[in-house]
Amino acid sequence: MSFDALSWRGQFPLLASHPQLHYLDSAATSQICRAAFDAVGLHELGRRANVLRGTYRLAEMADAAYEDARRQVAAYLNAGSADEVVFTSGATASINLVAHAFGEGLQPGDEVALSLAEHHSNFVPWQMLRARRGVALRFLPLAADGRIDLSRLEQAVTPRCRLVAVTQASNVTGAVTDLAPLVAAARAVGARVLVDGAQAAQHGPVDVTALGCDFYAFSGHKVFAPNGVGVLWGRAAELERLPPFLGGGGMIGRVTAADTTWAPPPRRFEAGTPPIAQAVGLGAALDWLRQQPWPEMRSHGEHLLGRLLDGLEALPGLTLLGPRQPEHRLPLVSFSLAGIHPHDACQVLDQHGVAVRGGHLCAQPLMDYFGVTAAVRASLAPYNTEEDVAALLAGLEDVVRRLS
Ligand code: PLP
Repeated sequence: MSFDALSWRGQFPLLASHPQLHYLDSAATSQICRAAFDAVGLHELGRRANVLRGTYRLAEMADAAYEDARRQVAAYLNAGSADEVVFTSGATASINLVAHAFGEGLQPGDEVALSLAEHHSNFVPWQMLRARRGVALRFLPLAADGRIDLSRLEQAVTPRCRLVAVTQASNVTGAVTDLAPLVAAARAVGARVLVDGAQAAQHGPVDVTALGCDFYAFSGHKVFAPNGVGVLWGRAAELERLPPFLGGGGMIGRVTAADTTWAPPPRRFEAGTPPIAQAVGLGAALDWLRQQPWPEMRSHGEHLLGRLLDGLEALPGLTLLGPRQPEHRLPLVSFSLAGIHPHDACQVLDQHGVAVRGGHLCAQPLMDYFGVTAAVRASLAPYNTEEDVAALLAGLEDVVRRLS
């Protein structure tokens, strides 16, 4: 099957109605696909009721849709069972859930290994855990290009390590982490592995079974689905031994004046009314995504990334953050421009109809590592075209002409 980016773009209502928009910020939020948008509408108009509470038919239809969505997510992740899928409000909430529920069992002196290349969502919760439980944080060594240096893992994954929390792909450099050696190093010391899949999950179905991790977190709004919903996948045996994080309706076995018992996973971790229509939309998006021609879509992304990198390298004063080799990165690039603040660059680019992100990208430790305070980031999704890349490059020439 050949891949036609323009017709793919037609599957995204906002892009279809804004033909002049060069949307290159999908790493922040991707556009919602029609399959997800329609599923949310159908649900809200025909099946809206609370879930796991009502016994009337409308509520049972809502229950069925919500549990179908769980199965659709499980299929996208190649999870062993739908009960391993916990709906949350997003990747941040998923990681905080692990930091609290798993963190509860940690003692002072236990260690969590992470890297300076993490998004703040996979960084700050561990600092907060350090303050709560007295655990130590160990940092996985980075190579000069910002990738984790896999040859020195024992520096951070010590016998005191209880959890390795690491991104599958950096939201700054696009660098893809080779997880197999990390999982092996964690296993060798009996530690668990949490993978932050917030960026990687957008670029095709995930295989948590093959990855061999214990927890996997991602957000709906970055996988062409609604915002307000996300997923924590957890290996069944791991979820089973964790206590709940939030208390409330839906997560209990029995509540008495004296005490409360917990529902089994995944409900144990879904206190209160979950984001029902959003979960249904997420399930529909992932179901649709699973059927897309990913090999062709990846080649398309690599081709555009190559064009973009070639064009960027020709710009005076531009410094790329991260590895140059396309095979080691997602189709996203961050860069600094000598003497030009990223926010100014973004404003000029906006005048060209180009939407890109500028700032610290919620990764200040990595910015510090690279010795910059902020960067411009352009991120590509399969709906992007040669015209989008050309518009960005032309816009950047204008930025350099006007601002340097
Ligand atoms: N992790 C990474 C690598 C990200 O890029 C992001 C968002 O940009 C997050 C975590 C947090 O995602 P959210 O804000 O949807 O919870």
